[in-house]
Amino acid sequence: MKAAKPTAGAANATLNEEPLEPVLGAAPERIDAVVFGRKLMRWYGEHARVLPWRGISDPYATWLSEIMLQQTRVATVIERYVEFLARFPTLEALASSSEADVLALWSGLGYYRRARMLRSAAQFVVRELGGRFPETSTELQTLPGIGDYTSAAIASIAFGESVAVVDGNVERVLLRLVGQPEDKSTAGRTRMTRLAQTLVPPAPKRRAARAADSPANPMNNPAGDHNQAMMELGATICLPRSPLCLQCPVVDLCHTRGEHAKGVREKPRVRRVAHLLALRTQGGRIEVLLEQRAPEASLMAGMFELPPLPLEAITAAVPMPVPLLRVRHAITNTNYQVEVYGDDTGLRKDIPASEDDLHWTGASHLKMMPLTGLARKCLIKIGVLELD
Ligand code: SF4
Repeated sequence: MKAAKPTAGAANATLNEEPLEPVLGAAPERIDAVVFGRKLMRWYGEHARVLPWRGISDPYATWLSEIMLQQTRVATVIERYVEFLARFPTLEALASSSEADVLALWSGLGYYRRARMLRSAAQFVVRELGGRFPETSTELQTLPGIGDYTSAAIASIAFGESVAVVDGNVERVLLRLVGQPEDKSTAGRTRMTRLAQTLVPPAPKRRAARAADSPANPMNNPAGDHNQAMMELGATICLPRSPLCLQCPVVDLCHTRGEHAKGVREKPRVRRVAHLLALRTQGGRIEVLLEQRAPEASLMAGMFELPPLPLEAITAAVPMPVPLLRVRHAITNTNYQVEVYGDDTGLRKDIPASEDDLHWTGASHLKMMPLTGLARKCLIKIGVLELD
């Protein structure tokens, strides 16, 4: 990203090193949409990052990028997005894929439910809607896995609907602009969504004409470009910590100019788990023992992992086994402390899974397997799976 030059407004602004106490009631919950939009879009036109899903008007590609970007860093998504589109270039290609192929391509992105939903939604569009992608945010919400945020993103970016996209980045920008503290209540969220909606430009009169225009020109799709600019501002300037207010295009409209007051956060849980690493050589190739998670599991159903071990078996073993590897792994609000034990510990007999769920898998096949993020991390650390 190019660094923005400080604006005259920024140069004159008094910026806060520390989070400000919000001046409740002093800042109105409204922003001049015309002035704000002009400043925001001028900045976006000059400083937007070049990303592979920008400047296109393919709803399938927009949808894929928005699903991948949920809870995953942009740098990780870029590579996976390109690979995924190369393998499944159309909605039809995705609809006729096998779940295992989709999960394998998703490996490392985490939150695998997103990949399953993506495939189910593609099948729904092909089977029930004759391949026609819904064009409005309301219709899009009838698809599996598409809620308020994703429907608004697709409808505005791919079809030009004047509907606000409110993700965590946008919410933070708005809270700071109006000088409010974090409010995770439904009422607080609703207020920010309403405020966001007041800023979205109306859809062009002849929306159909847009497809023939160049999407790179911000005037072609005011609502979609505005939403992307808001997300870009939150992701690159109005950062959660130490926002870059001197580079902010809307600093002179902002009532916080620094970090806003946060609500009390829940402490992450810590959980200790153990897995077995069993390797063998078969016909000159290395194989690793993997367990397939149950299809009805609430998390990562059907995916492959190193066989989990009960902690009681480790405590009861004599002598006490020493792990080959310790790994930290965080999923949502839980920090896992993972211990990986070698097969020489004799712990294989304690694997609770049935033989049917255990599979010896060639190391050269691991890249094509739908592995859990943790299994992938452990296998890379041990050197059985190569880094991409
Ligand atoms: S970057 Fe600073 S000035 Fe800009 S919206 Fe965020 S807090 Fe306000």
